[in-house]
Amino acid sequence: MHGFKRSPPAAAGGVAVYAVDGLPQQAPLLPAGAAVADLLPRGARAAALPLFLPQRSGGGDAAAASQSLAAARRAAAAGAGGGVEPAAAPALEAALVPAAAGGDAQLRAVRALRAAAPALFIVFCHPEATEDPALRIAAFAAGANMATASAAAVARALAAVAATRLGGALRCAWCGLAGLTPESYWHHQPLHHIYEPILPGSCPICGHAASNLARHLHDCHPPPGAPPPERRTGVFALVVVRRPRDGKFLVTQEFAGQGMWLPGGGVDEGESLAAAAVREAREEAGVAVRLTGVLTFEAHHGGEWRRVIFLGEPDEGGDAGGGEAAAGGAAAAAAGGGEAAGGAGSAGGGGGGGGASSGGAAAVSLPAPRDSPKSVPDFESAGACYASLEQLASPGVPLRSEAEVRWFWRCGEAGPLEMPAAWARVFGEFALS
Ligand SMILES: [Zn+2]
Ligand SMILES: [Zn+2]
Repeated sequence: MHGFKRSPPAAAGGVAVYAVDGLPQQAPLLPAGAAVADLLPRGARAAALPLFLPQRSGGGDAAAASQSLAAARRAAAAGAGGGVEPAAAPALEAALVPAAAGGDAQLRAVRALRAAAPALFIVFCHPEATEDPALRIAAFAAGANMATASAAAVARALAAVAATRLGGALRCAWCGLAGLTPESYWHHQPLHHIYEPILPGSCPICGHAASNLARHLHDCHPPPGAPPPERRTGVFALVVVRRPRDGKFLVTQEFAGQGMWLPGGGVDEGESLAAAAVREAREEAGVAVRLTGVLTFEAHHGGEWRRVIFLGEPDEGGDAGGGEAAAGGAAAAAAGGGEAAGGAGSAGGGGGGGGASSGGAAAVSLPAPRDSPKSVPDFESAGACYASLEQLASPGVPLRSEAEVRWFWRCGEAGPLEMPAAWARVFGEFALS
């Protein structure tokens, strides 16, 4: 019996992190030169988790995963990684699952771990995690909470998990994690469950019957210092972001299992349309964007809602860092930035020695691809990805809505960054830039 009410709150940084080992033909978990110990927040315990999955088990072997987890918990409690008083069972746990060659071995491992431990924070680590949208979708469908190619992002996510304070009376409606406080629930829900289905339910804090419990928690129970909830203006700014070097497009992994879409969202009062598009790309995709043209202005339902779709490209010199830091309150201990914050690595694959992350989590050098999109989930999105038109046409890639994505095929039609006079009247109270 776990007895959170009798136990003192877990120490800050009290998380056990397991690195799955023993998958067939395993690829390195991290880029050369980085070790799991480099990723751990202060006070975390780490243990390798050998996970040998019987090949007969197509959907993963939960029994084998349970045994492996039990052994890893003993190793972690015995002090592997050190730093925290051993507990009977660590309440906060994360597992890193490395890329494995040979079919679906990595996905099977994720499925097995998820079946064995509903509240485990599972990180799907793969060099193509932000370059292959079908792989991202498959990882989340298997039960991963995060899919990433960035060691710096892993470090920030682990710090956010570790910052979860227990000792409260709340229980997560999605994974059953007990002991949450209102504040830790606010952080935990989007970090762990933003891509999971919308749940209706009675709010455990105020009793309100919510049709969307995640949104209710986010909007109605923010902790001190959280940004104020969005005020809807009925005006939206979206952006088609094309990466010049290979023609791939930036897509965001939208909340509640909706699939991929382009970055965009509501324009705030007093904000220009262009500024909103740039901000949304940073928040939802962790990418600094430079706008290059306008694809379309639209007004629907007699002007009840209006929107503009811009064309843009990654701004290599821009600051991609605001997104996760601004939206991910859970990452307070890990305030870093976009995945690019720590890295001076090569564009393709995290080669060279990266600079130190600006956040408190990773005080070590962690190589990160310079243009790696966001992969730490928060209330804005589950992450982002670059995708070719062929990848987006795959049946394994659901799209939140196809109408807007069609602009990817038509981006040569972009006009200058100007508002025609007729549209200036329709968007009267908003400046274009
Ligand atoms: Zn949960
Ligand atoms: Zn409530």
